[in-house]
Amino acid sequence: MLKKFLPNEHVERILDISPEELKKKGIKGVITDLDNTLVAWDVVDATPEVIAWFQLMKEHDIKVTIISNNDKERVSIFSEPLDTPFVYAARKPLWKAFKKASSQMGLKKEEVVVVGDQILTDVLGGNMAGLRTILVVPIVHTDGKWTRINRLIERRILRFMRRKGMINWEEK
Ligand SMILES: [Mg+2]
Repeated sequence: MLKKFLPNEHVERILDISPEELKKKGIKGVITDLDNTLVAWDVVDATPEVIAWFQLMKEHDIKVTIISNNDKERVSIFSEPLDTPFVYAARKPLWKAFKKASSQMGLKKEEVVVVGDQILTDVLGGNMAGLRTILVVPIVHTDGKWTRINRLIERRILRFMRRKGMINWEEK
């Protein structure tokens, strides 16, 4: 059960993920979280760095879909200028949105990686959908109330996994 909380990889920022590395692993599509993965949860629009990252992925034929538990307004205002497909009110960690996004991209599950900042939604959901997962460090550490509660649980899971030697990155 604990393994379902364990990401395949851990990187500091989504911007550190390069198309070359993804291709080496046979990845053709990315499902990314929005809040605190692409931008801080209270930032409305993509930053120039994020816009450049989406452009880079497009140039390398890596498809990107944003899936977020946030509402239609937040997710569409962010995603539409990037010209990228999105799923709002995704109810992660339920696997439905992940399956939907993968099949909309026309990819097999081995070809898709899920990127997000939360173990209890992004990593757990991606793992349950049978996809690869990459955990990133949250962009800011302030969150809404529910995320705060998730974070407390998350920190305990991480501490336990670290003690068991299941993960070896440093806490940020
Ligand atoms: Mg998030």
